[in-house]
Amino acid sequence: MPLLKQRDVKEIEGILNKILNTHSPPVGRCRLLSSGFGPAHALNIAEDISGHKECLGCGNCVDICPILLREPSRREKTEQRTSMALESTVGEDCDLCDACILVCPQVATTIKNYVVNHRMVEVMSRLGERIGDEDEPDLDLFLEEAISQP
Ligand code: SF4
Ligand code: SF4
Repeated sequence: MPLLKQRDVKEIEGILNKILNTHSPPVGRCRLLSSGFGPAHALNIAEDISGHKECLGCGNCVDICPILLREPSRREKTEQRTSMALESTVGEDCDLCDACILVCPQVATTIKNYVVNHRMVEVMSRLGERIGDEDEPDLDLFLEEAISQP
């Protein structure tokens, strides 16, 4: 079975960078710019979702978002595990870490490759500058708490 043709990032680089530079969860819009799941997906559903770009409600983006990990009260506002839930709970507080893009099964691999190759150095250096900032949450403490929870 042929693989689904992935979106050529050169065709969408301008709009993609606008999305990646906006303080709002980017995964939904990156999904809409993608070609969706390939036909060889192994999901246990009868529907053929090849080329389908809609949110699967897998919750990967909700689970990975550092804003929701640091502030569980935001997450408790909804039980939904969709990109729309991410947008309503994170909104303009999005940290532009791009993690939600990388874990979404509906975002084209070419877009993920672009993010890793063109954005990650900037993301890591921006986050690195915040280490030790008194206004920032203590990530080590947060991780200890998360690991100690049953
Ligand atoms: S995972 Fe990162 S980029 Fe995605 S919504 Fe959360 S802070 Fe924003
Ligand atoms: S990671 Fe899952 S829940 Fe989030 S946008 Fe992608 S398909 Fe939807």
